[in-house]
Amino acid sequence: MSFNASPHAYDHAFEATLESIRSEGRYRVFTDLERIAGAFPNALSRRTGKKVTVWCANDYLGMGQHEVVLSAMQQALAEMGAGAGGTRNISGNHSRMVELEKTIAELHGKDAALVFTSGYVANEAALSTIGSVLDDCVIFSDAQNHASMIHGIRHSGAEKKVFRHNDVDHLAKLLASVDAKRPKIIAFESVYSMDGDIGPIREICALARQYHALTYLDEVHAVGMYGDNGAGIARRDGLEDEVDIIQGTLAKAYGVIGGYVASRASIIDTIRSCAPGFIFTTALPPAIAAGAEASIRYLMRSSHEREAHQQNAATLKTILSDAGIPIMQTPTHIVPVMVNDASLCKKASDMLLEEHQIYVQPINYPTVRKGSERLRFTPTPLHSEEMMLSLRDALLQVFSELNIPLSRADTSRAYA
Ligand SMILES: *Cc1c(COP(=O)(O)O)cnc(C)c1O
Repeated sequence: MSFNASPHAYDHAFEATLESIRSEGRYRVFTDLERIAGAFPNALSRRTGKKVTVWCANDYLGMGQHEVVLSAMQQALAEMGAGAGGTRNISGNHSRMVELEKTIAELHGKDAALVFTSGYVANEAALSTIGSVLDDCVIFSDAQNHASMIHGIRHSGAEKKVFRHNDVDHLAKLLASVDAKRPKIIAFESVYSMDGDIGPIREICALARQYHALTYLDEVHAVGMYGDNGAGIARRDGLEDEVDIIQGTLAKAYGVIGGYVASRASIIDTIRSCAPGFIFTTALPPAIAAGAEASIRYLMRSSHEREAHQQNAATLKTILSDAGIPIMQTPTHIVPVMVNDASLCKKASDMLLEEHQIYVQPINYPTVRKGSERLRFTPTPLHSEEMMLSLRDALLQVFSELNIPLSRADTSRAYA
């Protein structure tokens, strides 16, 4: 339908958009949930007034309520006030930001780091800048890359070639098809958050060397959680020096907000100097930078949270699969339970909340392929075994009421 400007035409156009989103079952409704410092992973449902257990938070290690983080934030707030006062060009660098960037560079063993207002902005700004600065660049992008990378690549104006998810042979073919002299960037992730699988970093870096490409790795779902100091999968696998640019978030395992890239000095300085998404926006406030820095520092020293995190993920996988609940086996902390039907997935999520005080959001198309709808559980070190057993019982009841098929229970190692 063509647009015909009139007083009501605008509202009609927006309503029509919303209607088509609704008719496709993609309309988003957010659950009212109050986080309670000290009580995570429990939260308060404002609608029912009841306590619920949150099973899908990206505050993977519970750092969002950690004393070390809270006190660093409170101290910086008291000393330096609320906001940063402007962009870094206008208001200068506050000391907490300088320290934060130094700590991030140290974390990843890189020359330098640059902090953005979010991980999304970090990807968008970094990829759009390096892709546009390098003349005639081609960017090779994993098919399951996050929206923030896709947008950054699009805004770079560079030619884009998408390789099948984690398919190194396909990537090799695409690399070979491009003029050897053209600049190339390979953009991919370490932990993919929906299937909980891991990108073949070693093989991709080997191809990058062969074809003289730069590597850009999103470690958003790995930083804080993998590697001896929490720097992520590249660090864990001894590949940090192979990856040119590592991108991460301060909002997930680190529990605060903000995003970053870490790399060689020339690359970081170029992004700092050219990226509109960095230059023309107010810096993160000192209290945020102080909290994020305290969180990174703490997790550089303490492995206890990482070990408990992996242990709890393994325990939950065992408890659920022993009961015949169809989980996707993953090499990570992410535990997808497959429902494979959009409306059943939504119903299961609603029933878990209404009847069992368990919060997990349904993951439907377009986030995942149609027919692979799922509930995605992210057990933290703060989820107790008792919570896991309640979750199992609730899932069994809901699956039975909705006639969602179970897989055959593995009774050989039944979990009491
Ligand atoms: C969440 C996410 C981001 C964005 O990070 P924010 O700090 O939440 O903006 C980037 N990449 C991936 C893969 C993510 O899942």
